[in-house]
Amino acid sequence: TPFYQHRRVLVIGLAKSGAAAARLLAELGVEVVANDQKPLEENAEAKKLEQLGIRVVCGGHPLELLDEPFDLVVKNPGIPYTNPLVEKALEKGLPIVTEVELAYRISEAPFIGITGSNGKTTTTTLIYEMLKADGQDPLLAGNIGLVACEVAKEAKPDQWLVTELSSFQLAGIDEFRPRIAVLLNIFDAHLDYHGTKEAYAAAKANIFRNQTAHDYAVVNADDPLVMDIVSSVRAQKVLFSVTKPLGEGAYVQDGTVYWNGESVIQIADIVLPGQHNLENILAAVAAAKLAGASNEAIRRVLTTFTGVKHRLQYVAEVDGRRFYNDSKATNILATQKALAAFADEPVILLAGGLDRGNEFDALLPYLQQVKAMVLFGQTAAKIGRVAREAGIETVEYVDNVEKAVPVAFRLSEPGDVILLSPACASWDQYKTFEERGDIFINAVHKLK
Ligand code: ADP
Repeated sequence: TPFYQHRRVLVIGLAKSGAAAARLLAELGVEVVANDQKPLEENAEAKKLEQLGIRVVCGGHPLELLDEPFDLVVKNPGIPYTNPLVEKALEKGLPIVTEVELAYRISEAPFIGITGSNGKTTTTTLIYEMLKADGQDPLLAGNIGLVACEVAKEAKPDQWLVTELSSFQLAGIDEFRPRIAVLLNIFDAHLDYHGTKEAYAAAKANIFRNQTAHDYAVVNADDPLVMDIVSSVRAQKVLFSVTKPLGEGAYVQDGTVYWNGESVIQIADIVLPGQHNLENILAAVAAAKLAGASNEAIRRVLTTFTGVKHRLQYVAEVDGRRFYNDSKATNILATQKALAAFADEPVILLAGGLDRGNEFDALLPYLQQVKAMVLFGQTAAKIGRVAREAGIETVEYVDNVEKAVPVAFRLSEPGDVILLSPACASWDQYKTFEERGDIFINAVHKLK
């Protein structure tokens, strides 16, 4: 259904993707009403929409809005289905979609959709880079790229649209049908939004819902929840595994990555560290091969790609010390992964940040190779206690990330890894984890 057949559309929630959806619909001649919680005075997005002649209702989600006739609701992924206005729309039987559905309907370009609890941005970026290295002209949408409907608007029918998809976005699809769908893993994330683990898994499973036997479902053979979901899909299943030599699909055998029985690259030649990244790499290899990429192009990316910014990103080597920026590690699980990626190397860990009231004992089993810690932020003392329990003698406390870098350098010797992986959100001292990571990178370059 071309969605511009909808005559009146209500857009609820105007953060980035909602505003893009409202603009797109208005451009296509659809009558749009844009609604947002934040009052107009403080609402830059809403003001911009108003200047374009779009009717804007701000400062709350008044139920009376739905006394007017609408035939479609576009909901920002962040707004829960328990929001009273959304509930009323559901009661009225109105279709409710997210911006990704619009992207799908306005474009003939084939989608590669990537979802999972962890690794989405990394895998999405890898696939995009592999297709680019292959001489194709792919487009990137998602967390680090543009909003899908903006990208789709410009896409030509032969361009792959490589799109990162959250479970929130996938909960609001209707006809969305990716040619290649990738499901990486399912952990206990976002249960507050989706209610139960089953509902969360169901939202992820949506990525396969409209696929047919012409499409592909690329899935992690090592994740039982994923395999459970995929047992009933119509698409052709393509498996990847870091633990089992599958013989087909993407897998690892004797230190080599294989695709359908053919060797693609030696693991030793891959720049991205960590077993978790190997999963992302196998998923990306599978998707890129299905999209026509050559082994040569894939190899070129894997031998040079240093990671998505702030995600265990290799920054530089200074006098034999290698620096990594994992500022995106805003929780303990992410820092565990980062430490596991350097299990065989001496590490100096920079950590600390916003105190959410939790303890850090779960880091303990991952600290064997950590020779020193430099701590900052609200949680510094708490993490320091765990360091002492782990028998780490050198623990220094500093004001912030900028000061942590030269201290870590002073404590280090050639061969060490100096790792920013804070295990905490940044908001006690920084606006975003990106800002925190950029400050780290600058401080590292100042050492040179
Ligand atoms: P997402 O976009 O899903 O948040 P990212 O690629 O941005 O994922 O990675 C965020 C963090 O998640 C990484 O720093 C790492 O700690 C962890 N991670 C990445 N890939 C995986 C994976 N395949 N399995 C488990 N954890 C992962």
